[in-house]
Amino acid sequence: MRFLAIGECMAELAPASKPGDYHLGFAGDTFNTAWYLARVGPEDCRVSYFSAIGQDEIFRQMRDAISAGGIDTEYLLEVADQTVGLYLISLNNGERSFSYWRGQSAARHLADDPGSLRRAMENSDVIYFSGITLAILEEATRDTLFDALGAARASGKMIAFDPNLRPGLWPSPECMKEAVMQGAAVSDISLPSFEDEASWFGDADPEATAERYAAAGVDTVVVKNGAGPVLYRQSSECGVCEVPEVADVVDTTAAGDSFNAGVLAGLMENRSLWDSVSLGCRLAGKVVQGRGALVPVDRP
Ligand code: AMP
Repeated sequence: MRFLAIGECMAELAPASKPGDYHLGFAGDTFNTAWYLARVGPEDCRVSYFSAIGQDEIFRQMRDAISAGGIDTEYLLEVADQTVGLYLISLNNGERSFSYWRGQSAARHLADDPGSLRRAMENSDVIYFSGITLAILEEATRDTLFDALGAARASGKMIAFDPNLRPGLWPSPECMKEAVMQGAAVSDISLPSFEDEASWFGDADPEATAERYAAAGVDTVVVKNGAGPVLYRQSSECGVCEVPEVADVVDTTAAGDSFNAGVLAGLMENRSLWDSVSLGCRLAGKVVQGRGALVPVDRP
């Protein structure tokens, strides 16, 4: 089995224990999912990350960090004169807030070359991308990515998509919604979060979210809902999986990303959808008990 995640990994500056000091790390939604999948996926699974990176020292460190996470770096395209996307975490009375610098990120060029996309997809079985992957691209290169995903799907690859709605990354909510539903139209699996979908698409309940993605042509929809039950729908059959209670939720960063990794790991092992969703819930339940995006986990 070969898993390919497509998107942007960023440098993260997180407050260290000494005030004024920061710890440098690397994270990003699709990268986080790849990182967790490398931990909980099938033993024979090769996990690769597709992105564009620069050629300076920070990118060498990023590539080393991706590789140290057990993720193949063969599909990291080098772009000259571009830099890394960066975010800084600020703490105010225990509350985290985020500041982003990603306008000059090399990852914005990840879909510039259709040939590179095609080659990476041909060498993969499951291909994963998100609404954030779409948001960082120009309209023309977004279309290049859609074309490549559509062709990969038509040739039998499994395409998985987390809409990850982030209106701040888009010129307008309308533009975001249109692109996200185009992403859904080339996907077999969609993994939306109900709260975001209700805010931006006006869905009355998780069933409405599942129905909208199914109507766009997605076969399997898994609707996350924080601590609430996860609704899943496959070929018009619906079910629910309760989220195990977590006594001490420390930080929900990457809860959805790790959940997606658990679900996809289960499906790649040909487990039932309920079993796969349950694995996603147990994995995310561990991740919310740790701090930061990448929490060391054993297979739950
Ligand atoms: P979200 O993206 O916030 O809907 O969360 C993704 C997944 O993380 C959920 O489906 C749960 O499995 C897990 N999760 C999130 N918040 C909590 C919580 N407070 N307690 C337990 N699990 C959670």
